[in-house]
Amino acid sequence: MNPTLRIRPARRAELSRLAGLIRNRLPDLMKTQPATQRENIEKNLLKLLPDESLLIAIENRQLVGMAALDLDRARLMAMYLDPKAAHADATRRLVRAVEKHARSFGIGRLECTVKPQAWSFMEKLGYQATVTAGEGEPVTLARDLVEDAEDWQRRVAELHRELGIPSNYGVRYRLRMIPENTDCLSIGADIFDRDIQLDRAAADAWKAMKTDAQRSNIELQPVSGFRTVAYQAGLIRKKLNANTPMGRILRSSAAPGYSEHHSGCALDLTTPGVSPLSAEFSMSRAYEWLKARAGMYGFHESYPNNNRHNIDWEPWHWCYHRHVDPRTT
Ligand SMILES: [Zn+2]
Repeated sequence: MNPTLRIRPARRAELSRLAGLIRNRLPDLMKTQPATQRENIEKNLLKLLPDESLLIAIENRQLVGMAALDLDRARLMAMYLDPKAAHADATRRLVRAVEKHARSFGIGRLECTVKPQAWSFMEKLGYQATVTAGEGEPVTLARDLVEDAEDWQRRVAELHRELGIPSNYGVRYRLRMIPENTDCLSIGADIFDRDIQLDRAAADAWKAMKTDAQRSNIELQPVSGFRTVAYQAGLIRKKLNANTPMGRILRSSAAPGYSEHHSGCALDLTTPGVSPLSAEFSMSRAYEWLKARAGMYGFHESYPNNNRHNIDWEPWHWCYHRHVDPRTT
């Protein structure tokens, strides 16, 4: 394994270069794409950024490879490795990184179409032909991703089957699996007098934010913080028992294993005079204050009105992301 090789999601500023690479170096791929797409490579790459589905491999500050994941079709696409700089290990790690990413959306089987000369390499990585290809023709291969899944991910999949959550849930709502944080600490009592826990860094940021709000005579009250997968499953079960249709439930509650509350970084907030977890919060001074100031503390509104996850607006749900958004400081 090469320690200097780094794989990370591509950034907006890198797109035109990556589009050029596809245009010039992947002529075969271009042939298989409709003409309209060909003219809009950069626009299509841009669509991959919010889900971090465009990965690049960097070695000694040089781009050595890229790979894109088509979430909706569960396909590895547009993989490119610089023939001069990339080695088999880089390819293997790039493929494994895409698989890990696909698995985080709950994808259990990944497909790809490769040239005949790449077939045996992909076979060594566990890919098998799905149909018999003609001599010299590109071959479509697939790999079962479940065998490499972590135990907690398998338990989540099992829980989803039991609750009747659709198997394409993560892809459909563009939500990723989030492991339970095992290092949370108490931040005191919530409005129902239950102990509430948060991730350590989020807890510090929360305390500073709450104090700052108080200076503007705004009282921020926590309603919910860290939640286990089992607790989230209980919330879904309760709604199912009340005969709420699954589609309706999933627009307002994340499926177990996919809730930001598992990370211990998400906080549901309210303020005196507002009923907790209600749309009313969006009309409060507290919400207005959060919109203006929360970013300074690393808290962001995860599901704003008309969000790309197609989840109901949750003005009360704020999540701490370790980096501070420079636009709001
Ligand atoms: Zn929440």
